[in-house]
Amino acid sequence: MDLKLSMVVPCYNEALSVVPFLETVLAAFEGCGYEYELIFVNDGSTDATGHQLRKLYEDQTCPIKVVELSRNFGKEAAIYAGLRHADGAYISLIDADLQQPPALVREMVDILDCNRSYDVVAAYQDKRKESKLLTFFKNSFYKTINLLSDVHFRHDASDFRTFRRSVAESILTIGEYHRFSKGIFSWIGYETSYIPYVAAPRVGGRSKWSFRKLFGYAIDGIVGFSIKPLRIATFLGCVTSFAAFLYLVSVFLEKIFRGIDVPGYATQIILILLLGGIQLLCIGIIGEYVGRIFEQSKRRPIYIEKDVLDYHKK
Ligand code: UDP
Ligand code: MG
Repeated sequence: MDLKLSMVVPCYNEALSVVPFLETVLAAFEGCGYEYELIFVNDGSTDATGHQLRKLYEDQTCPIKVVELSRNFGKEAAIYAGLRHADGAYISLIDADLQQPPALVREMVDILDCNRSYDVVAAYQDKRKESKLLTFFKNSFYKTINLLSDVHFRHDASDFRTFRRSVAESILTIGEYHRFSKGIFSWIGYETSYIPYVAAPRVGGRSKWSFRKLFGYAIDGIVGFSIKPLRIATFLGCVTSFAAFLYLVSVFLEKIFRGIDVPGYATQIILILLLGGIQLLCIGIIGEYVGRIFEQSKRRPIYIEKDVLDYHKK
């Protein structure tokens, strides 16, 4: 039987989740009638995740691969590593913490089976259980990014999705270092069907997101998929230069025709601060891009594998 489905599961400090996760997958896929494999990517966990995964691999209650990264490279890099090892005709991305129900993956597979016109089935969160403040920031972020970027971002879509092999291969061709998967998914295109899901509470452990990480991720999303911020910097520069020029002319004329000495200590300070602020902002914007050119020009790998446990070689 051909391998139908590869599930890529990034794991970072998920010692409490991986065993219940596997059990839930086994229950959800019982009697599915096709072969599937699980690819756990241990993204440099500092707890017992690596040990647990090894045990799961030894037991092989279903075909399991374990990819050990040499340190924590981040979820996006872990997904990339997992995709490299996926052999199935369909590939799913799913978190290890059971917030995303494995039973839904089975539905996604059925949808892809029945509809040749769809290449991707993506789940979006129907009702989010998160703080109002976070929702506000997320909404503002997506409004901004959609305004700035050429690709469209759905604010409620997650990276919980299943797609055909060709889609996985397209994702792998994108070798950028700062990975923003939502942007990558939109950028590669393909017909996508969206289905709702309700995120469950974590089965154990903690979310790895902090405000700082989210902020960095947001900047990655904007800078990685648009050069409009650079245009805005140029535009700001033009507008302030023009305003400064008008002001200069008016001061000059006043001096000539009315002989008024230019008063205005306050005006000067405000202008200096305003101009300084705009300049720093523009340098910051340029810096974000230069930083990325720098990172990318080093051509470092997106991740480093320490070890691969493959059921084929067992
Ligand atoms: N994850 C990872 N590397 C990281 C952070 C997270 O592989 O550096 C994994 C994590 O183990 C989980 C998934 O990515 O399987 C989603 O992480 P998390 O649950 O913290 O995110 P949230 O659900 O809160 O968005
Ligand atoms: Mg989670």
